[in-house]
Amino acid sequence: MQTPVAVQPSVSAFLNKPKKLLIGGEWVEAASGKTFATLNPATSEVLAVVAEGDKEDIDRAVRAARKAFEEGPWPKMTPSERGRLLYNLADLIERNATELAQLETLDNGKPIRESLNADIPLAVDHFRYYAGWATKITGDTIPVSVPGNYFNYTRREPVGVVGQIIPWNFPLLMAAWKLGAALACGNTVVLKPAEQTPLTALRLGELIQEAGFPDGVVNIVTGYGETAGAALAQHMDVDKVAFTGSTEVGKKIMQAASGNLKKISLELGGKSPNIIFPDADFSKAIPGALMGIFFNQGQVCCAGSRLYIEKSVYDRVVSDMVDHATKIKQGPGIDPSTQMGPLVSKEQLDRVTGYLEKGVTEGAEILVGGETAGGDLEKGYFVKPTVFANVTDQMTIAQEEIFGPVVAAMPFEDIDEVIRRANLTTYGLAAGVWTTDIRKAHRVANAVKVGTVWVNCYNVFDAASPFGGYKQSGIGREMGSYAPELYTQVKSVWVNLD
Ligand code: NAD
Repeated sequence: MQTPVAVQPSVSAFLNKPKKLLIGGEWVEAASGKTFATLNPATSEVLAVVAEGDKEDIDRAVRAARKAFEEGPWPKMTPSERGRLLYNLADLIERNATELAQLETLDNGKPIRESLNADIPLAVDHFRYYAGWATKITGDTIPVSVPGNYFNYTRREPVGVVGQIIPWNFPLLMAAWKLGAALACGNTVVLKPAEQTPLTALRLGELIQEAGFPDGVVNIVTGYGETAGAALAQHMDVDKVAFTGSTEVGKKIMQAASGNLKKISLELGGKSPNIIFPDADFSKAIPGALMGIFFNQGQVCCAGSRLYIEKSVYDRVVSDMVDHATKIKQGPGIDPSTQMGPLVSKEQLDRVTGYLEKGVTEGAEILVGGETAGGDLEKGYFVKPTVFANVTDQMTIAQEEIFGPVVAAMPFEDIDEVIRRANLTTYGLAAGVWTTDIRKAHRVANAVKVGTVWVNCYNVFDAASPFGGYKQSGIGREMGSYAPELYTQVKSVWVNLD
């Protein structure tokens, strides 16, 4: 199927030129000469061909990052100069917002209205926020009590060479979440984008050069997880690895990182409960529940995929959800009227349809959706928005992350029961609660074992507010004042004043 909406000439120009690796300030082929194709998930056609980096390229990139960290102009630059480069980058992303949004939508599938209004502006804001942090990374003076006359203070120093491995669901935004704090703190980086969506990271590499970052400060190696990603996580000269992706791969990263005990931070999967009480404002709660699960085709780590509804209003909420789900307009993301695009890949399509079958086999009932979209959309990776009923907490679809537009609706009797059930998975990324009773809202917010709670809202993000997971949803917090802790180490300095 042809893309119905024309893209900017700069997008076509970018798609048509060779996609190489950014290593030490140069765009280079993979050492093996290998390439791989990235597909348009709305059509399953080849969108672009990209260099396939592997271990040898990771080695080269780490060497470049080490050199830039130890010798280059980067370690001598003032915090203010580093901040200025991050501001430059934010301005450049903003100036190229439409191009980046179109590239993101073509590569990932997400509706252009989402990439234009969420992914790109949030990335701009993120770089601007951390540009400000570059001059605010401070140590402490410590009032020590040891006998003698000592002056003791701490310095917060960069960790060094950082490996960053990111997923395909918010490709540019995840790159921003990773790079902003790492660069503000003075580290150098080797970034490994997801193989499904390498394009905006490569365009970002061009903008990083245009912004004036010294060679080797940011290196970008596209390639597969098992080769390039694993080589980065294992590398003995990488001081820290930051990963966003599945819990399964997060565990592999942790093992790989043990070789040189590199520092790790992990942002992993979720199975987030979204809880609706009868006293909620339904004009907000229903759209909130829909957006909570259907935003980005449900490929959101904090998607509200377990919808708990108090029994007295269960039928009403479920019927409203079904009614709205049938009206969602699916299509290629690049069409401005599209409300839900395709899933990112055939693999993801198979994974999600596998869960649909499993749900039915285990006894759940599909109220709407439950199948791929046919007709014009047949060639793309489209799954219809799906609502499951008759779900129990033990079913696979209530325990495992589906990462698709699939919600499990479950009734509950009272607040104590729903709190207990909300905590019944191995994940702990986020939760939502909808009520006009402030006591209920706070009781739930305090009791759920998750990193983020949204009260009468869902999927709200800000660069200043921390994000990360309890339990198997991750280690560490990105954003806000917390990310600089991930990207610095503390040195205690003792000065004998006698
Ligand atoms: P994934 O774990 O398969 O891949 C993520 C990244 O890891 C990719 O770049 C991939 O190439 C790389 N990778 C794969 N195997 C690797 C290995 N053995 N060693 C090193 N790197 C490897 O996940 P995905 O399917 O791309 O993304 C979806 C997952 O990401 C979901 O589980 C979702 O919840 C999670 N996610 C979490 C957050 C968060 O902030 N917590 C945000 C977005 C996505």
